[in-house]
Amino acid sequence: MELIEETPYRFRVERHGDMRVPGMVFASRALLSSGEAQKPLEQVANVATLPGITEASFAMPDMHWGYGFPIGGVAATDVRRGGVVSPGGVGFDISCGVRLLASDLGRDALRPILEQLMEGLNRSVPHGAGRGAVWKLSGPKEMAALLGEGSRYAVEQGYGTDTDLERCEDYGAVGDAVPEQVSERAVQRGLEQVGSLGSGNHFLEVQVVTDVYDNEAAEAFGLREDQVCVMIHCGSRGLGHQTCTDHVRTIEKRMPRHGLRVPDRQLACAPVDSPEGRAYLGAMAAAANYSRANRQLLQAAASRTFQETTGRSLEMVYDISHNLAKVETHEVDGELRELCVHRKGATRALPPGHLDLPAGLAKVGQPVLVPGSMGTSSYVLTGVPDGAAFHSTCHGAGRQQSRHQAARATRANELRADLLKQGVVVRGASARGLAEEAPAAYKDVSAVVEAAEGGGLCRRVARLAPVGVVKG
Ligand code: 5GP
Ligand code: MN
Ligand code: MN
Repeated sequence: MELIEETPYRFRVERHGDMRVPGMVFASRALLSSGEAQKPLEQVANVATLPGITEASFAMPDMHWGYGFPIGGVAATDVRRGGVVSPGGVGFDISCGVRLLASDLGRDALRPILEQLMEGLNRSVPHGAGRGAVWKLSGPKEMAALLGEGSRYAVEQGYGTDTDLERCEDYGAVGDAVPEQVSERAVQRGLEQVGSLGSGNHFLEVQVVTDVYDNEAAEAFGLREDQVCVMIHCGSRGLGHQTCTDHVRTIEKRMPRHGLRVPDRQLACAPVDSPEGRAYLGAMAAAANYSRANRQLLQAAASRTFQETTGRSLEMVYDISHNLAKVETHEVDGELRELCVHRKGATRALPPGHLDLPAGLAKVGQPVLVPGSMGTSSYVLTGVPDGAAFHSTCHGAGRQQSRHQAARATRANELRADLLKQGVVVRGASARGLAEEAPAAYKDVSAVVEAAEGGGLCRRVARLAPVGVVKG
């Protein structure tokens, strides 16, 4: 596919075939040649054919191949102009996201107790496929409350504080959740998984702030150099996966009725304003709330262990989702429009002054949490005025090797030893799981962040280095 370089960090895919809008890829020449770029670019073009798509089919610099949409894809459809919602534009791990916590402990004070802390976290934070959770729900009735209220419900039940909620996207719960649209099977899968990391790419990581690029924003976020932090990455577990599966099935069946055709089955979609579209969005919001409660519970478990081991508390920096579709109002061609913004492997990045920000963040913008890998860096960014792609940015480094490629190229034992030499203690993770998540499997996170900033999506605030990780 031909890419037109508009700036060193922004590339354009001209409209061709059935594309309704151009493709807009935020990247750099170097990033485009790391990993496989053709397939995700074809996906960018496919997404551009969706009814109601507005402005462009966007890709973030961490773009790689995904189900239907690329991971790192952003697409907004106009609700009043036949715009569609596509579950593939959200992904199977609905509202998968990242929560960052900060302590007032410094790196030197952590060193002598790091092994003990990692041992404790490994025990108190449930991880791995289907292995227990912090909280076992009493039944479907309690589940309905949690699906409606997300982190707020967890806090009501004693797992956290109101100040935690202030620092959550949507104050801890998405509105418009319709718990009845989450199937019985999904509910059953979810009852015993609230407060668990899951497997593979999900993790809990102890990190140290190594660089601060913007003092004012870092201070507002509660971050400063040399500080020990905890980053949690997980999603909606079996409940979210089942919800996506269920709704993809119905939506796909009903497409002919709406006269909808897509170039890839995985782009199955329904008009936002249709029974199936609304049903999916209601179920998706409920699953998103499950995901937020999940991270709230993991925070509670991690905070307790951290307090016991270090004598210090962990304060909330922010909780952000990177797999979500949301109906938002944006100005397009001088007109306010209601858009269904899909962010799949992409995060929202609200600029300073945005009305949805809590008072403490209004001046500096929303924290954006970008994990890199267990052997490199992670970043904290913030939104910028006039941020492109409907105020969105990257969500990670993004894969440059498939799981399969990474597993073949990596020896788990050597990787574990290399990481230890580098000062990173690894817990959890099967040999295969570890190999699939090797730092070499991911793009250069610093290059990704540079492209995101250079492309006008966000601004850097701080960088963190890993010192210990519990892998799912
Ligand atoms: P995803 O949600 O797409 O699975 O993952 C988001 C991002 O997390 C990946 O693109 C990758 O950059 C990052 N990541 C994966 N594993 C780890 C880890 O163990 N530690 C950190 N800090 N980041 C990771
Ligand atoms: Mn996930
Ligand atoms: Mn994720």
